[in-house]
Amino acid sequence: MNVTILGNNSALPAFGRHPTCQAVELSSEIILIDCGEGTQVQMQRYGIKWRRVHHILISHMHGDHYFGLPGLLNSMSLQGRKDELHIYGPQQLEPIVDAMMHAGGHQFEFPLHFHTLPDGAGVISDGTYFKISCFPVQHRIPCHGFVIEQKNARRRLLIDQCEAYGIPKTFYGPLKLGEDYVAPDGTVVPNELVTAESLPPRRYAYSADTLFSDSYLPYIQNADVLYHESTYLHADVEKAVARFHSTSMQAAQMAKMANAGQLLLGHFSSKYKDITPFQEEARTIFENAMATIEGTTYPV
Ligand SMILES: [Zn+2]
Ligand SMILES: [Zn+2]
Repeated sequence: MNVTILGNNSALPAFGRHPTCQAVELSSEIILIDCGEGTQVQMQRYGIKWRRVHHILISHMHGDHYFGLPGLLNSMSLQGRKDELHIYGPQQLEPIVDAMMHAGGHQFEFPLHFHTLPDGAGVISDGTYFKISCFPVQHRIPCHGFVIEQKNARRRLLIDQCEAYGIPKTFYGPLKLGEDYVAPDGTVVPNELVTAESLPPRRYAYSADTLFSDSYLPYIQNADVLYHESTYLHADVEKAVARFHSTSMQAAQMAKMANAGQLLLGHFSSKYKDITPFQEEARTIFENAMATIEGTTYPV
């Protein structure tokens, strides 16, 4: 799993930075998180294929998180998309998108499914390859963060054991799926003798826009990578509190409390031209912190 930052600015495009959008790439598909203005242009620029996107998560109804959605959906339709698409977001989202399409007399040529996020926390998608959960954060309007877990559905081969039992390599695929091996003479080799449990799933947590608060700490605990907003440097902590945002040092404090593996910082205010101080401040509290750069892909 990896995440490509397509936009990491708050509110406005500024200094070559775009409003919030990121693409989480799994082996099976790409999940978009938030869809700020210019998302489809950023996707083309950084080689994120629309066809691989089947899930879009929208954290809240501030424009820097969804103004790019209508344009992206319209382009998908014009390009002849036939695959279904699932959008998870606040309940106001569907009527807004519908009204925009109806006003122009258009309709989508592909199955589009809207799913309203729950008031609290919950699992919103659970499939073979990944699980998506949402959790409420503290913002001026209802807002959710997300956790994406990549499942390792396949068992790990113990190669020495496989060879010792004489299992042909052509049977390694079924072994990973948990099947027992039956030799030509009828001898059964139980799967658990030649394979082991898969590695624990990798977890990516996205805080969306939020005031620094331990209310959402349980949901992001032990994330391999935590993306936390840091709209302001810590000198502007009063502004951050008044506007329900966080500072770089608060983001770092949250990563430390959550025991995260790595912290990615983003959602920088348009008032800052240089984002390196965000990283420097965060590292005074949490060493493995990065101020994200647009177009950069970070492994999870
Ligand atoms: Zn925002
Ligand atoms: Zn917001």
